[in-house]
Amino acid sequence: MINLTAHEPGSPLPCLCKTCFASAPAEASTEGLAFRRVTVSANFRELHAWLPSSLEAEAPLLLKSMAQRLSTRTRSRYAEWVRPRREPLVPPRAKPKTEKVGLWGRVRKLFT
Ligand SMILES: [Zn+2]
Repeated sequence: MINLTAHEPGSPLPCLCKTCFASAPAEASTEGLAFRRVTVSANFRELHAWLPSSLEAEAPLLLKSMAQRLSTRTRSRYAEWVRPRREPLVPPRAKPKTEKVGLWGRVRKLFT
């Protein structure tokens, strides 16, 4: 899993980036508000966030939409990552030139 959470040194809550995550608590509070650490993951990427306890009722919905956004944002990179290495792309072969006989061509043919 790759932690995509950004480093936030100025945040009142503990930072949840990949460096700080190991020492981050599961619960924290600031200014009298309690927060719970939540994690969403998709395509081998995970995102951590602080969920205020006042939003606990909406948590499943919130986490679902977070996971969906993460999934959409990381889809192409994941596709690159899991796709086996293929031979380098070669430009499509040039189409064989076909003599297209237009009106002018037919007129010219009359005089040659
Ligand atoms: Zn950090």
